[in-house]
Amino acid sequence: MVNQDPRIQRTFEALFALEDIREIFRGALPSGLNQSEDQAFQKKLAELKEVIGGLETGTPVSGPLSLPGNLPVRDREEACINVQPIQAAGRLTVEARKALIAYGDGYSTCDSCKKPFRLDKIKEQGISDFHGELAEFLNMDQARVIPGARRGFQAVISSLLEKGDIAVVSSLAHYTEFLSVEHAGGIVKEVPLNEKNIITADATAEKIEAVIRETGKIPKITIIDHFDYQFANEHEVKEIARVSHDYDIPLLYNGAYTVGVMPVDGKALGADFVVGSGHKSMAAVAPSGVLATTEEWAPLVFRTTQMKGDLTGRRFGIKEVEMLGCTLMGGTLFSMMASFPAVRERVKHWDEELRKSNYLIDRILSISGSQVLSEYPRKHALSKVDTTGSFDKVAQAHKKKGFFLSSELAKQGIKGIFPGATKAWKLSTYGLTWDQVKYFGDSLVGIAEKYDLEILDEHAA
Ligand SMILES: *Cc1c(COP(=O)(O)O)cnc(C)c1O
Repeated sequence: MVNQDPRIQRTFEALFALEDIREIFRGALPSGLNQSEDQAFQKKLAELKEVIGGLETGTPVSGPLSLPGNLPVRDREEACINVQPIQAAGRLTVEARKALIAYGDGYSTCDSCKKPFRLDKIKEQGISDFHGELAEFLNMDQARVIPGARRGFQAVISSLLEKGDIAVVSSLAHYTEFLSVEHAGGIVKEVPLNEKNIITADATAEKIEAVIRETGKIPKITIIDHFDYQFANEHEVKEIARVSHDYDIPLLYNGAYTVGVMPVDGKALGADFVVGSGHKSMAAVAPSGVLATTEEWAPLVFRTTQMKGDLTGRRFGIKEVEMLGCTLMGGTLFSMMASFPAVRERVKHWDEELRKSNYLIDRILSISGSQVLSEYPRKHALSKVDTTGSFDKVAQAHKKKGFFLSSELAKQGIKGIFPGATKAWKLSTYGLTWDQVKYFGDSLVGIAEKYDLEILDEHAA
């Protein structure tokens, strides 16, 4: 059962009512509210009190609460347990949600921008300090905020690759790595997986050798996802950095699934570039992310504009070409900054997240015929499981076919599992409380029992 507590919708209603009140101030003169505005204020306040009354009594809202365009209110995080892997660590902190309320207006970072007019140089509101803290957090020399990890790949790759140049990537590389290379006119060459679905340093060295033999060209970059998005297996990133450096090839560390959830030490890993995703792993509004690099590479990737207008002679100072000047100019950046203290703290508790992850996987393994496709024990909160031998057998005979599982789970308020999947599917336990993880495990085992699947003792938690 999803949480149908009417106070959830009432809470949204109250937030919206407060925004209506806020809107009155926005339309008023600095000298204060006039008579009709004051009346409007009193009217809205009375409405808010009614909503608060509804919150107190738990009376449901009269109709379904929606935004213009019939956009329903998104209450997935309030009413359900959301185990969708791409959403788990991007859930906003309460601080980020407050920052979004206060700084949602368009270019809100620009209130105090002055010479030399660049986002990361803005002293006020802690913006330039935040850039320094980000670099420190990743143990790199310089950092910039970017609109998504993909834009970080793009900035690096377009700085390093010319048309026809080669990027070595993982066989589990994210599509945005492919597209970033394609955007620069480059070519990807994939390192094969070993039998355990791991990218090893040996396989990377062999691939680099093969590429050099076949093309006569030394690859311009190696891009490795520390934990890939399919299995969330850990790859030999540190050793791969060393191998790449043997050929003078820089390493881009793709931390979309690590930066913001577990400790990442760029220097210790030997990374030349560290890329993280704000909306995937740093509890920030999309699109956001971070690109960090070393003093060696910063002058290239963060090069400033050299362009001069032929008529006007205009130049644009220290604007960085790959950043197209400035990047996150409003609520995205402030949400990232507001979450940052919590993010910096939570990476220290990764071991606890791994305990929850392994607990849940053990519950799934206790359902006879189930397997985990990711490496096990788990070193990440995201896992891919195979229930061909358990839930998929049920699906064969069920009138809903493969949809039975996601629909059974949805009935219990668990969302984020790919609808229709009963063979291989992914989940994440990241950020769930122990009570929620146990509820999730109990639900899965309960569904298995309902359909007469055998529950094994040896894995049962
Ligand atoms: C999600 C993901 C990306 C893309 O991140 P964005 O911040 O949305 O651009 C890149 N690589 C991996 C491995 C991912 O999981």
